[in-house]
Amino acid sequence: MSKVLHATRALLPDGWHTDVRVTLAGGRIAAIAGDAPPLPDDERHAILLPGLGNLHSHAFQRGMAGLAERRGDSNDSFWTWREVMYRFLERMGPDDLAAIAALAYAEMLETGFTRVGEFHYLHHDPAGQAYADPAAMCAAIAQAAAETGIALTLLPVFYAHGGFGGQAPNAGQRRFITGLDSFARLRGDAAHALTALPDAVLGLAPHSLRAATPDQISALDAMAGAAPIHIHIAEQTREVDDCLAWSNLRPVEWLLRHAPVDRRWCLVHATHMTSDETRALAASGATAGLCPITEANLGDGLFPARDYTGAWGVGSDSNVLIDASEELRLYEYGQRLVHRGRNLLAPAPGTSTGAALYGGALRGGAAALGAPAGLAVGNSADLVSLDADHPCLIGRRDDALIDGWLFAGGRAVIDCVWRHGAKVVSQGRHHARDAIVRRYRAVLTGLLE
Ligand SMILES: [Zn+2]
Repeated sequence: MSKVLHATRALLPDGWHTDVRVTLAGGRIAAIAGDAPPLPDDERHAILLPGLGNLHSHAFQRGMAGLAERRGDSNDSFWTWREVMYRFLERMGPDDLAAIAALAYAEMLETGFTRVGEFHYLHHDPAGQAYADPAAMCAAIAQAAAETGIALTLLPVFYAHGGFGGQAPNAGQRRFITGLDSFARLRGDAAHALTALPDAVLGLAPHSLRAATPDQISALDAMAGAAPIHIHIAEQTREVDDCLAWSNLRPVEWLLRHAPVDRRWCLVHATHMTSDETRALAASGATAGLCPITEANLGDGLFPARDYTGAWGVGSDSNVLIDASEELRLYEYGQRLVHRGRNLLAPAPGTSTGAALYGGALRGGAAALGAPAGLAVGNSADLVSLDADHPCLIGRRDDALIDGWLFAGGRAVIDCVWRHGAKVVSQGRHHARDAIVRRYRAVLTGLLE
């Protein structure tokens, strides 16, 4: 059965077009016609764009959003935040994870993210033992994706050590730890958990250079084959110092020198780089995975976006606030604040910053998540419509609509979102929001009491 969406203006891979009919069939885009007036059965919209990929999420952390904003005794940092996070997940089981992830994924869809890269390391039960089904937590993530409709690139995380050079993990990390053999089995079971999801992708992720040794990273690269490989890197200056002490090299420098980093790879954060590292990362073909809201929240530092010429995308990481427009806006604003200039990420005079941000994140998200994006025949039908009557879009056209969305209106300008051909958001609300929030409230109340 097919359905046709008609848009007054739509953003196709070669730019904006008028009177666009998009035919959806079997979850995919079956046909696109421009300069095609609407037919009586078409569902009509003003402005259509492709959905964005969210390349880095830890869904369970949505449940602790805002709980680490109280000043502690010592200097608060990423590392004190991490202790709050470890305590929060002490009792979380598969059903709790499914409920929290469902809320996070519904919110992602409401803000225009149609695929999520779930960087998933919470594998075992609270005592650190494997569940009866070792992939029970992967299955909980898949269940949340199925319930909300979001496309899933699952990145099971390999986590073996507590610090550089193969240090033993600490007690707070016991739920994450695997060896290479048990990880390979877990990933096989995770593949099984994804079979019912349309267009799911299975990648993998060495957690960081702290958590995996060089030999383990080589083995994981081979295990991945052509699938996406993600890694946290150079997020914190202490991590840079520890890496230097261990290897005499900085984290990004070490990885580019010792691992076959290419288009399959996504380097998440890559905050602290020299200009040589910044150039080498761009040349590698890998995607830089930026998480501007989380990086600001954790006090990580600023990625050298103005000087970086390679592929990049955005992720919501800790999910402390989920909003695609805010991630992109903050990515630009960080550069404005540090360089004291404006429109620093637009490629040329006269071009739109919003369009550059949106286009960059669309391409980088697709590359990092292993799934094509964009309104093109054959792609999954993942679309976003904007509310042309929103005050921030009045009198705007084409790229200026994206500027109005990202810089002025934010998520409130989103009207509908389709995922794999099904409309899952109308008037900015996910269709299952009420049920998802009800279950989330019950689960969170239990976890926090
Ligand atoms: Zn992360």
